[in-house]
Amino acid sequence: MTESPDAARSSTPGNGRVDLPRRSEFRADDRGLADAAGSWKSAYIHIPFCSHRCPYCDFAIVDESQANEVDRQRYVDAVISEIAMEDPFGSLDSVNFGGGTPSLLTSDQLEQILNALKGRFTLTTGVEISIEVNPEDMDQRAIEGLVGRGFTRLSIGAQSFDGQVLGVLGREHGVGVAQDVAVEARSAGFESVGIDLIYGHPSESARSWRATVEQAIALPVDHISTYALTVERGTTLSRDVLAGAPAPDPDDQADRYEMFCDLAGNAGFARYEVSNHARPGHVCVYNLSTWSHGEYLGFGLGAHDHRRGERSRNHQRLDRYLEDIEGGIRPRIGSETLSVSDQERDRFMLGVRLAAGVALTPFATAFASSERGKRLIDAGIVDIESDRLVVTHPMLTDAVAREALSVSVGDC
Ligand code: SF4
Repeated sequence: MTESPDAARSSTPGNGRVDLPRRSEFRADDRGLADAAGSWKSAYIHIPFCSHRCPYCDFAIVDESQANEVDRQRYVDAVISEIAMEDPFGSLDSVNFGGGTPSLLTSDQLEQILNALKGRFTLTTGVEISIEVNPEDMDQRAIEGLVGRGFTRLSIGAQSFDGQVLGVLGREHGVGVAQDVAVEARSAGFESVGIDLIYGHPSESARSWRATVEQAIALPVDHISTYALTVERGTTLSRDVLAGAPAPDPDDQADRYEMFCDLAGNAGFARYEVSNHARPGHVCVYNLSTWSHGEYLGFGLGAHDHRRGERSRNHQRLDRYLEDIEGGIRPRIGSETLSVSDQERDRFMLGVRLAAGVALTPFATAFASSERGKRLIDAGIVDIESDRLVVTHPMLTDAVAREALSVSVGDC
């Protein structure tokens, strides 16, 4: 890990925002970068449509295989109206289209939303505009269409390079499709190309996972996100497990994660967050900013906002979302104003996932001084390095966060 570069801190304008440093100079796990990211602002656009529901997924999606004719343009128009209702927010450092499956929209529809954002907010110079895509939706024309409309980062939902694992995950693309998309995206001119992988399905062997990782790091990609398969309530996977199918094994998953970190690290990817690795200069601005407690706006079904100490969220039901928007009101389902100590706790719970760790705020200091914190430090799971608290075993981050939740600032 590098020391915090002065350059990352040197351009603080009067409003407290730290300008994007020249990212090409920084490792993804740089501490100065993580600190700067807390002042960046983002917008998230949720595109809920999916051609079917994958057996492990519990996201807020619109399953087009179940729904009646879904009018995607009606949804696009609603998102544009929601953007127009938003209060001034300052300049956006990143815009992220996630889902769902954003690649089910046409380039023109995506551009309509982008134009609405540009009409309502300023975009910083060098803004990151990213989109998550499913490989089967992407051909050369679609890829070039995204570059031509200003998208700078492509995140490809590869999940695995083993055909059998893709099948049990319910993915619709064949082996080789995601590789082709990565190669085409690189030559089309995306600034950053990333892939997402899922590990730990019971039908996946260590050998299969190793082969997937080796293929991933051999691709012309700058960023890899890896997620452990989890069994979420209400999913087909959870029903299968309840009926006796094998569940993911946490020990196997820990081994897979370690294997990935070793192979990716040796190939020049730095882990900057539990699930995210990037080559120097290719940290995902949106990811780093949200994990660093930066403010963001969320538009679309089930989207969340975090701004000025307030968190709010939208309806998760499409009919309610559309009804509210078309009736001229914000589609909020709830919001809460956070006290200063709530915000500190949130900053800790998010930041503890970062390889750069979190600053020793009063909350972090209280935790480090508590009996639980001291035990974790003695066990080498948590480290205090100069002015930061760092989790040294990323797989134990959730456990550390749970321990920290039981500590209040008054405990120190
Ligand atoms: S494509 Fe992604 S969001 Fe859609 S159902 Fe599958 S996992 Fe969920």
